[in-house]
Amino acid sequence: MSASRINAAELDVQELERALEARGRERFHARQLYRWIYRRGVADFDAMTDLSKELRGRLAEELEVITPRVVTDAQSADGTRKFMLELADGRRIEAVFIPDTPAMTFCIPTQVGCAMGCGFCLTGKMGLVRNLTAGEIAGQVRVLAAATGMLDHPFNIVLMGMGEPLHNYDNTMKALRMLHSEHGLAVSPRRVTLSTVGIVPGLKRLAQEPLMPNLAISLHATTDEQRTELVPPNRKYPLAEILETCRRFPLKRRSRITFEYVMLKGVNDSMDDARRLARLLAGIKAKVNLIPLNPAPAIPYERPSDATVDRFAQILADRHLTVSVRKSRGQDIRAACGQLIIEGTGRKSAAQQIAALMP
Ligand code: SAH
Ligand code: SF4
Repeated sequence: MSASRINAAELDVQELERALEARGRERFHARQLYRWIYRRGVADFDAMTDLSKELRGRLAEELEVITPRVVTDAQSADGTRKFMLELADGRRIEAVFIPDTPAMTFCIPTQVGCAMGCGFCLTGKMGLVRNLTAGEIAGQVRVLAAATGMLDHPFNIVLMGMGEPLHNYDNTMKALRMLHSEHGLAVSPRRVTLSTVGIVPGLKRLAQEPLMPNLAISLHATTDEQRTELVPPNRKYPLAEILETCRRFPLKRRSRITFEYVMLKGVNDSMDDARRLARLLAGIKAKVNLIPLNPAPAIPYERPSDATVDRFAQILADRHLTVSVRKSRGQDIRAACGQLIIEGTGRKSAAQQIAALMP
């Protein structure tokens, strides 16, 4: 690896055009490269057969395409596949392929770890290790699309893997622009859902984006006191501010904001909580996704009974909210929500040690 080579995986089409031009190459090769890298999953210049042999040789001297390496690919009994990927610096992340939900979906992280510290989330226990770069975020999608045979098929992306996407705003949005390129995978923003705890300045920026993904807000509680306990950033961005920002959020005609609500037994699962939740969401084009907790040894909460979840859902439905209950997928390979942590090499973090205890 030569230090002077540019990593093309970090560049959008325009940047790649400029990089080629600066080296005396034709701009249009950028589109060809995008097609190879994204649509055909090819990162080796030598295999790009519609480029002259001479050009391929030169490109290989000037550019490289750094791609996350698949370390393991574990398949669950329900078809869910969890990929452990290694980045150039040796850090490891996990991305998940969830088939037939009803669409094909990739669940992608935006950070290594997370700084938000939600009390029910294993990733939250890791703290933030570092942001993922735009090329690493988009690179995971390249890898998963190639590995699952989805390069030529439409798929959804949920930014619900480890990390808080609005805490890594620029890289996340750049990755979405790269994935959206018509010369590459042409992923429509309508097929992307960004899940956030509600970093208000980030939400306001997002509201101005030309390329806007669907929005999911991790609400999880109906009073500030309780939410601050479960989702610490609520101290800075309280419920009223988040919901006001949601009320003003520009939505396309039929689209709605999803509110995620992790259900914790005896904590936020009462009938009063359900009624309060319905009241809070009044006037917002909302749907609610109830997520019964995926328990883990280090998490001091329990999962409520199915009957409690059903009763809670019924109260919301009676108040004309659309409700879904998230089915837990891939539990046997620990790919379910809040269970994405890295079991890397070397010194293990607290969360990693905890993970090692799990089946
Ligand atoms: N940081 C973002 C996106 C990643 S978390 C966010 O919090 O929205 C994705 C979803 O997984 C969130 O709704 C989160 O609340 C949920 N989750 C985290 N830990 C969980 C657990 N132990 N059981 C069930 N869902 C969990
Ligand atoms: Fe971070 Fe989301 Fe986990 Fe909270 S739930 S700690 S924001 S990954």
